[in-house]
Formats: sequence, structure tokens, C-alpha cells
Amino acid sequence: MRIDIQELSIASAKHALANQEFSCVDLVSACFDRIRKHDKDVHAFLSLNEEQALEQAEAVDRKIKNKEPLGALAGIPVAVKDVIATKGIPTTAASKILERYVPPYDATVVERLKEAGAIIMGKVNCDEFAHGASTENSAFGPSRNPWDLSRSPGGSSGGSSAALAAGFCLAALGTDTGGSTRQPAGWCNLYGLRPTYGRISRYGLFSMTSSTDTPGIFAKTTEDTALLLLVLAGHDLLDATSLPSEVPDYRSKLNEPLKGIAIGLPKEFFEDVSDPKSAEVVSQAIGQFEKLGAEIKHVSLPHTKYGVAAYYIITPSEVSSNLGRFDGIRYGHRSDTANTLMEVYAKTRGENFGPEAKRRIMLGTYALSSGYYDAYYQKAQKVRTIIADEVKKVLNEVDLILTPVSPHPAIKLGEKADDPLAMYLEDIYMSTAALAGIPGISIPAGFVGGLPVGVQLMAKQLDEATLLRAAHQYEKATGWTMQHAKL
Ligand code: GLN
Repeated sequence: MRIDIQELSIASAKHALANQEFSCVDLVSACFDRIRKHDKDVHAFLSLNEEQALEQAEAVDRKIKNKEPLGALAGIPVAVKDVIATKGIPTTAASKILERYVPPYDATVVERLKEAGAIIMGKVNCDEFAHGASTENSAFGPSRNPWDLSRSPGGSSGGSSAALAAGFCLAALGTDTGGSTRQPAGWCNLYGLRPTYGRISRYGLFSMTSSTDTPGIFAKTTEDTALLLLVLAGHDLLDATSLPSEVPDYRSKLNEPLKGIAIGLPKEFFEDVSDPKSAEVVSQAIGQFEKLGAEIKHVSLPHTKYGVAAYYIITPSEVSSNLGRFDGIRYGHRSDTANTLMEVYAKTRGENFGPEAKRRIMLGTYALSSGYYDAYYQKAQKVRTIIADEVKKVLNEVDLILTPVSPHPAIKLGEKADDPLAMYLEDIYMSTAALAGIPGISIPAGFVGGLPVGVQLMAKQLDEATLLRAAHQYEKATGWTMQHAKL
């Protein structure tokens, strides 16, 4: 039977599988058919896991026939960002240095997906080591936005957003260090959740900025997002920063109305309107939240303007340290032409890291070096503390903070690729949640010239339930995610 993947959510696919409207093999095959047909244009996948996926699908079908108990994501096709370790499946971080790496272990998020019965379709593209906002820093070429193939699907998790928006899967995992889940979701008409730092284990994520890295969730509905979070969240002994707090059933509060919820609009996020049409979409969303009963309050986060600057000191500093292990000895594909130990280091790293990874290693090494440490790294950490305190204070007055996701919709490929500073500024609305360790979600909110525009909600640490509840009420009232990219 013909299955229209674009019309399915996780919830509706689960329902159809349980009622045997189609089999899991049908579902997974339909996704691979679409991938075969369209991924030459989209370039979401770096590797496919077709054989194993079909075997798993057969196993799910057998369980359904025999009426055996099923996991919460049984038979659901999921794409996984290529900075997340998958046992036996190449995991390259979209870098030449890991081109031949096949992890001997699964990241905790992958293990949890598998335990819940999800089907890993393959690994999706991203900026090299997740450094970037457009996937153009991938060593294997950029992904394209299914809404307009001349544009970026966002980044760094652009393969994840592209795969889901193209109908190659029903959910995707990304990571969010400084916006890499929320921004690509916004550019592709998807929900993109950055959970509280520590809510979902980082074990098996290739570390970028360990102090802000977190797995991220891409889904087509809030209900699907809540289910994925429920499966993935929770304490993990393999990640020392993982939070032991109990995991609530994020689905239980989705239907509570928004009366009594206060949403803060930080004025600093609305000052520089570079694209009035995107700004109009955001103000309509604010109006909608008000109609839904939320109380809108004007608040201020005065240090917002230093967020990107602090992030781009802290991130390269941690990157320069985290990438140290890729030296051709501990990790990484060793240069074939090196004759001495120094050459092993220099050539391995020189030949295999791309320009952005090298830039960050140099910036970070500089910021951490003696004499500059106080002026740069330590100062950035102080700014980070101020921003986190400020956010905390505001979130004592309001339940949620609403901001744009991006200054404008998806950029053209090539538009900013040669301008690192312009690319860093793409994160202008993203760094706050990252630096403060709070959860943020990107919500589909409309279109400008046929391109999706998102709004961002942020909440107190561990208050994903309120985030999802507000997003769900808005989804029910607007239904933007019912619109799909046409390939
Ligand atoms: N665009 C940001 C950066 O380049 C965010 C990346 C991320 O979240 N992985 O650092």
C-alpha cells in the first residue's frame, strides 16, 4: 500500500501500525523509497542503515501479529545526527578525520531509542563536529532545505531537520550546543527541543562545548516531542552531568489551557528587526498566545547583547580542548605521509580538520593561553554567569520567555559561508538558553515567502512540561505543521 509519510506523525503511525493498516516493513520501506528518490537533492543522509532497519521492522511486525508488548516507539523510523555514536554504523561527525570511524558502542540516546523499539534509518549530515549554523561546514557537502533546495536547512543539525521535513523519517535526533536543534527546526517548519542541560544524557555525543552540549529532539508535533523526551530523558551513570531528577510524563499536561501562564517578551530580542515580515509572524504568534489566555509581560534581559560574544569565547575554548584527542593516535584517521611524531600530529590535524574546526581550535587555544585567559575566557564565564542569573530572575516573574528563533528565514546556500562572523550572528537568539542551561523549543509559527518561520519559547530549568504545554495549545490553535515541504 502507498503510505504518505508527510501526513504521518509518530502518534498516527503508531495507531496505524497497531491497527495493522500497514506493516512496519511497509512504513520503513516507504521511507527508504523516498530517500532513494529525493536524497540526491536534499543530501540529508551520510550513511543508511537499511538492512538492519528492515530486519528490525520485521521483528516489530512479528510482535504486532503475536500481540506481544511493544515499546513506546516501536517501528518508528528515526534519523540520527552523525555526531552521535551508533554501534556498528559509521559516525563521522561530518569530518574527514572520522571518515572511517565505526563506534563500538551506542550513545545513551541511541540505546534508549532502540529499547523503545525505534528504527535507526541512518546517520544524517551536520556541520563538522556541529560547528556551524547551515551544514555548509560539513566535509561531505551541505544539506538542502526541502522547502527550497537552494537554501540551507539550518545547522548544525541540518541533516536532521532536512530528513524530517523531507519525509525520510518520523523523528530525528540532533544536538544543541548553541542553537543547533532550535534553529534548523525553525527553518524547516518543525518542533525542535533543546532540553535542560543534563536532562538527556550526553554519553556518546562527540563533545563540542561540554558545558552547553545537549541532545536535541526534532518532531512534527508537540505530542511526538513529549513522547520522545519521555523516552530519552533521565539519569545516566555514564554522564556525570546528567540530572537525577524524576522524569514526569510530559504528555499529561499538554491539554491544560494557558490561563494563568505568564509569557515574558524580553525587549532586547525585539529591538533589531532586520526582517519585518519574520517579525510580523512573531507578533502574530504573541497575539495568538494572548488569545489562548496567556498573560503577556514586557521584561528585560539587558546582557543579551553579550551572549554571542561570550558563547564564541567559551565554545572555541572548549572545542580546542575537546578536539585535542583527534591526533591520529588516540582518535582520528592518521595521515599516511607522516614520518615523525610531530608530523603525525600536524599532518593528521592539518589534512583532516576543515577550516571552521581549525578556526575554533586557534581561537580557543588563544583565549585559554596564559596572559589571555583572564581577559577572554574568564571574562566570558563571568558574562555567562550574569546572563544566567538575569534569566533566572526573569523566570521568577514569568513562566516562559518568548523570542524569535532567527532574524530571518532560511538563508541561501553560499550566502554567508565565507563570512564566519555573519554566520556566528545567526545564533543571536539562541545563545541565551545555551549559556543559562535552560530548555528552549522552536515552534512552527507561519511562513514568509513560502519559507517557514519559528518562534522560540524558553522555560525554567526542568520545566519542559510547561514549554510543551504552551507549544501544544498553540499548535492546536494554528496547525502550521500540517503544511509539508513538496519535493
Ligand atoms: N551555530 C552555533 C555554533 O556554530 C551552534 C552550534 C551548535 O549548537 N552545535 O557554534
